[in-house]
Amino acid sequence: MGNKRFETLFDCFRHGTDAVVECQACGHWIPLTMVTLLKMDGIEPSFPFWRAERRFRCSKCGQKRSRVYPGTRPHEWKGNR
Ligand SMILES: [Zn+2]
Repeated sequence: MGNKRFETLFDCFRHGTDAVVECQACGHWIPLTMVTLLKMDGIEPSFPFWRAERRFRCSKCGQKRSRVYPGTRPHEWKGNR
């Protein structure tokens, strides 16, 4: 992914990847594709990652400690945001 800038969810899709939502409490994660995202209430592709993170509650442990980053699986993303 090089030096492309990723600031919003839409940046992921624009650069040809998906996003990953990972729970920092239990490690549960889900892929966040454009299709998935558009079905969700209260979240928009234009949201920056930090704003999207506030919207997610883990479906497994119920905590709100999500981290959102570009990629198709956890820890694929090595860059800065
Ligand atoms: Zn969790």
